[in-house]
Amino acid sequence: MFFKSSKINEFRLWGLLLTMAGMGLMVLGTAGIVFWGQSGKIVAGIGLVIGLIAMLASLAIYFWAGMLSTSAVQLECPECHKLTKMLGKTDRCMFCKTILTLDPAQATVTADELEQLSAEHAGNK
Ligand SMILES: [Zn+2]
Repeated sequence: MFFKSSKINEFRLWGLLLTMAGMGLMVLGTAGIVFWGQSGKIVAGIGLVIGLIAMLASLAIYFWAGMLSTSAVQLECPECHKLTKMLGKTDRCMFCKTILTLDPAQATVTADELEQLSAEHAGNK
């Protein structure tokens, strides 16, 4: 958890970052030929190989994220009432980043209690 986002979103972010890095390296490598001529070809070769590996890795991450999201549990977020997906027993809502859990032992409030709390809160105002 680096970015305080849901796991699926985080996978997508890493995939995107790797794709950008891969493309950047390939472009830089190709630009190397233009700037340094013959000696730039080595840089271009290295850049292309690393770039290609990064792109392949990002593809794998995208594929993995796709596989994971099919097994993800879809549920309505008790906080923002949007339909979100969660991976594993604990994950964050994709929209409001609220930590959600399916494990009753880890939950601080249940959905019903939350409903009650917000209802009471609204009633007090
Ligand atoms: Zn939410």
